[in-house]
Amino acid sequence: MRHLCVVIGLFLASAALRGYAESAKENELKDFIASHVEKIKPLDKQANLAWWDAYTTGNANAYDRLSELTLQIRRIYSDPKDFAFLKGMKESKQVKDPLLARQLTVLYNAYLANQIEPELLKQIVELGTQIEKNFSTFRGTIDGKKVTDNEIKDILKDETDSAKRQKAWLASKQVGAAVAADLVRLVKLRNEAARKLGFDNYHTMALATGEQNVKELDKIFADLYQRTNKPFAKVKAELDQVLAKKYGVSPDQLMPWHYHDPFFQETPMVYDLDLDVYYQDKDVKKLAEQFYAGLGLPVDAILAHSDLYEKEGKNPHAFCTHIDREGDVRILCNLKNNENWMETILHELGHGVYDKYLDYGTPYLLRSPAHPLTTEAIAMFFGRLSRHPAWMQQMLGLSDVQRAEIEKVGGKYAQLKQLIFARWDMVMYHFEKGLYANPDQDLTKLWWDLVEKYQLVKRPPHRTNPDWAAKIHFAAAPCYYHNYLLGELLASQWHHTLVSKVLALKSDKGVSYVGQAKAGQFLKEKVFEAGDLYPWNEMIKRSTGEPLTAKYFVDQFVK
Ligand SMILES: [Zn+2]
Repeated sequence: MRHLCVVIGLFLASAALRGYAESAKENELKDFIASHVEKIKPLDKQANLAWWDAYTTGNANAYDRLSELTLQIRRIYSDPKDFAFLKGMKESKQVKDPLLARQLTVLYNAYLANQIEPELLKQIVELGTQIEKNFSTFRGTIDGKKVTDNEIKDILKDETDSAKRQKAWLASKQVGAAVAADLVRLVKLRNEAARKLGFDNYHTMALATGEQNVKELDKIFADLYQRTNKPFAKVKAELDQVLAKKYGVSPDQLMPWHYHDPFFQETPMVYDLDLDVYYQDKDVKKLAEQFYAGLGLPVDAILAHSDLYEKEGKNPHAFCTHIDREGDVRILCNLKNNENWMETILHELGHGVYDKYLDYGTPYLLRSPAHPLTTEAIAMFFGRLSRHPAWMQQMLGLSDVQRAEIEKVGGKYAQLKQLIFARWDMVMYHFEKGLYANPDQDLTKLWWDLVEKYQLVKRPPHRTNPDWAAKIHFAAAPCYYHNYLLGELLASQWHHTLVSKVLALKSDKGVSYVGQAKAGQFLKEKVFEAGDLYPWNEMIKRSTGEPLTAKYFVDQFVK
């Protein structure tokens, strides 16, 4: 189009001028991007390598290097002159080339998130760090005796005496009272920063920098709420029957401490299901390697660079990192041969194949997953298979009798797990929205109103303790929790597309994805190679035919 303009411009001077002005702006942006990438690319790589060293060895120097590099990167993105340039570019509406326009959006959002005034940012970081430190060092007490989180968890898992359970649950909430006032202060500081940048509050701003908005999320959450109301009430009533019997109370006497974790976010293991026995004599690394090879998405190069087993000083959790956006993808695990680590390695390698099979021909700034929720969805999609009866039968060579045994309990457990998590995530999303919209309201009341509405768990009478503040995510990972649920919905939406369109099957009964290279090819072409070329919901629409919806999650787990 622009080339044509030059020719026609000989006859239409004004059009030629417009054409010239456009390409001048675009050229200016191209130069900006080139020099930005030249600065940021080596720093990103060094920071990722420092992170890798720090997390795999615990080395203090590596941690220092990491925070120094993180600061350097942050300095680049907080430059007000550069931000003004990008803002002007955006407002000029003269960047028409889609690839350039997309890079502009991605850069603009990255800069926007870092435009908080230095003095205010310092206060926010310091207060946030202080709260996280209080979280790590706080110990609740039972009858005046300090207890660890693990001791509380054990009591909530196994204890049958209601009074003892209540004490453990109350101990788990004591941290809330210790940090609530600071948390509210932090929320207000974050809001102040967001208002200076033209947003209603920090929640709105955090969503906007991730190309999300409240209206769009409200719609998805409301739909899922409607669709899960009856089924959740039904499985919850069944669960309550089992729990009540175990504790010798009637179902209407059940209180928050009768569930198996402090927030009722996990599934109480009351239906006998021990999947570890199927994995204990196997090698979860080999199983994962074989499975991904069968999809046509080999992971041997990832595994060769990875750090897979426990060692002194190493971080005990699991991660995936793309060091250089050039294909150096690594995972960190602490593998054991059990179901949990089977899930985890499938999950991390899900992130891994997304990064590994990006299109390296796309510009550096767009060479990443479309959104944290889209890579999380791929990871969840694969992680779910570790409990899937057909997948287990094929990968582990189980008999039909064994498979039927897993199916009997496994299906119910999967449904319960997804429903419990979905209803819990609704509490988190709506609470965080309310918290930032009005931090001065009665937050304890808001919290319990939401818990009663979504989780169907009764509030203890006359409760004034700020129980919401016992959740560390409000401090450490603000306005992010909703992405976990959106990831689950998307994993089901891709599952539906793969079953009905790619594999052309009438139902997903028995679909294990083992050896299904067609499925791997679809994900590679429609999801991984799309990178960050499109906003996340547009990519979802392009790959599945419709924007993100709760429909298929409900199809898969509720019906
Ligand atoms: Zn993940």
